[in-house]
Amino acid sequence: MPKSTSVYIPQESAQQLGNLFIVAAPSGAGKSTLINEILNKSSHKQAMQLSVSHTTRAPRKGEQNGVEYHFVDPAMFKGMIENDAFYEHAEVFGNYYGTSKAAISDKLQQGIDVFLDIDWQGARQVKLQNPRVIGIFILPPSIHILQTRLSGRGQDSDQVIAKRMAAAQSEMSHFNEFDFVIVNDNLAIAHKEFEAIITAQRLSLENQQIRYGSLFPSLLTKE
Ligand code: ADP
Ligand code: 5GP
Repeated sequence: MPKSTSVYIPQESAQQLGNLFIVAAPSGAGKSTLINEILNKSSHKQAMQLSVSHTTRAPRKGEQNGVEYHFVDPAMFKGMIENDAFYEHAEVFGNYYGTSKAAISDKLQQGIDVFLDIDWQGARQVKLQNPRVIGIFILPPSIHILQTRLSGRGQDSDQVIAKRMAAAQSEMSHFNEFDFVIVNDNLAIAHKEFEAIITAQRLSLENQQIRYGSLFPSLLTKE
């Protein structure tokens, strides 16, 4: 009989769950740009998806229902809260935003990595329910550049931009509640850093023990 050492290999390892990543940032720091770059890489297309949130904010030009967000009215949003349909939800810039349970649970079960593009309030709620979640915070290289990026995006009115700039420091003050921090100055470097975090998480002991459930014991077994 082969003799094996007492390394712990989870027995319920047949299926690997997807990793859950939270990506937070002050508006304009480049969060959507970084997430979209990663999602559009063909090598990642099957393996990772962005959770589509519900919101009561009005669609911006070019935004489509069910793509960037599920756009709903406040009554419907309230109904979803009452039906316990949200994993987390919060009021941000005067509108309601929430991640529905349906948006993530099936994907994680299928082994797909899921990104949550949510604010610090939502991040806290998710962390309490799922301590394995990986939090990534994106910061701009300066306040001045943040303002330039928000105006340059050309999607929000001056009034909305002023509101978001006023909220930026409050959002940024929560960066130290996250596991990783990226300063998005040079986009190509920030992209590499983002990818490195995802790769590192996939190589974590917990994930690798599941992925290589039969290899590890075989390597430690005397013929
Ligand atoms: P967020 O999703 O965080 O609100 P966006 O991804 O929409 O921010 O980025 C805001 C604007 O800044 C966009 O016009 C985007 O093209 C630009 N941007 C993002 N990252 C960089 C970068 N590293 N250098 C220059 N411009 C950037
Ligand atoms: P925007 O209106 O620019 O798309 O998003 C505004 C802010 O709301 C961003 O900080 C974004 O991360 C946050 N947000 C988007 N969806 C959700 C969500 O489902 N839950 C929470 N808590 N915040 C969200």
